[in-house]
Amino acid sequence: MAERILKLITEQQARALAYLLHETRPDWGVQSLLSLIDKHKDAVKIGALTIAAMSKALEPSCKTPAPIFHPGTHWPVTARTNLPKPEPCPDHIGEAAHNCRCCHADVRAGLRPSQMIGKHYTPQAIYDAMKASLEDQ
Ligand SMILES: [Zn+2]
Repeated sequence: MAERILKLITEQQARALAYLLHETRPDWGVQSLLSLIDKHKDAVKIGALTIAAMSKALEPSCKTPAPIFHPGTHWPVTARTNLPKPEPCPDHIGEAAHNCRCCHADVRAGLRPSQMIGKHYTPQAIYDAMKASLEDQ
């Protein structure tokens, strides 16, 4: 009884939503959708998740289902406060990895490739300088 965990999304609801999303976006695999939903099943209710997920599925610019769980206007207002905290940027304290402002500034300045937004990145010039200084010692 003490170990009882409240699950907001049941297995059957997760499967129904995963198949519905896969019908809308055949490039989004059912198994990966199930894993993604399962990771967040204690955070949001099925109604809010269905609205948010289908909004992202209908966005042609949304290439993978991962952004479904990012905060944003695709979530109903009442669900936004319960959303899981987004992954932090490994290079910039206080910034979320999926939309790190510092990483975007680095890209605009030509210091970081655009595919490295929200990921750890050491520019080759800095890496070479650090390696050289270690070899001098
Ligand atoms: Zn960053």
